[in-house]
Amino acid sequence: MLKRQKTFQNNLAKIYMVGVPIGNFDDMSIRAINTLKMVDMIYCEDTRVTRKLLAHFDITKPLHSYHTFNENELTENILNLVQNGKNIAIVSDAGMPIISDPGYLAVREAINKQIDVVVVPGPSAFVTALVGSGIPSNRIVFTGFLNSGDNKRKNELQKLKDLTDTLVLYESPHRIKETLTMLSSLMPDRRICLARELTKTYEEYLHGTPQEILAVADELKGEMVIIIEGATLKEINQDLINGSLNEHMQHYLDQGFDEKEAMRLVAKDRGTSKSNIYQELKRK
Ligand code: SAM
Repeated sequence: MLKRQKTFQNNLAKIYMVGVPIGNFDDMSIRAINTLKMVDMIYCEDTRVTRKLLAHFDITKPLHSYHTFNENELTENILNLVQNGKNIAIVSDAGMPIISDPGYLAVREAINKQIDVVVVPGPSAFVTALVGSGIPSNRIVFTGFLNSGDNKRKNELQKLKDLTDTLVLYESPHRIKETLTMLSSLMPDRRICLARELTKTYEEYLHGTPQEILAVADELKGEMVIIIEGATLKEINQDLINGSLNEHMQHYLDQGFDEKEAMRLVAKDRGTSKSNIYQELKRK
């Protein structure tokens, strides 16, 4: 069933998803301050972190914790409160709620119950990093945090490697060395940007290859985002040429080409004739 939300055409209580700074309190918007002053209560990740932010702006409101571990149980209660006339805000420790943070369930269920969701936009680390990266942002894939296990993370990167879109990831300082090592072997020639401690005193952007950034990895502390230039077609083709003939054929078959056309494309990539490819495949 189609649902239409005309946010500001009624006086019903609402749920407010409020963006907060990613480090520099001066990035708090006037609308975010006014919203947090207006709502009946605020749900946040770590009450100590949000209390500091509220104190800075002289806001006193009942605070409740809402995080990955109690999101499932609390969402229903929060939405019941809104249906009973309470305006409620959800904030993260930093940046926009939901972006690698809790809040998605609340929005999904609010939409199901036809409760208005008001997003009060604020900074987000990945958008900030992307803008400062000098890497194309017209097509991006945002993965948030990859798996914390080294093997799983490497597999994820292996799968993302051939995307021509810019790749945007969040990474922890504890894993940055391993991740840069993986990037150095999987995509050695890519331009990457590591943006850390954005909007804070030690803000830094490192622009270079994975290997160049790896060389100074021991100095890299704090919160960080990695922006990786997408694969070029030349790079993807080189990988295919270096791989087996069957894998190369499969690459084109997976894209929906028939066998004849796939053979023609493989021959073209390898600088040989279609009949050579045919003979070679028959020999296997
Ligand atoms: N909701 C947040 C947002 O909108 O960006 C992201 C929350 S996520 C749990 C935290 C991660 O975001 C950090 O580990 C880091 O990768 C990134 N991050 C947050 N603040 C940052 C900052 N000031 N500089 C660089 N990265 C930051």
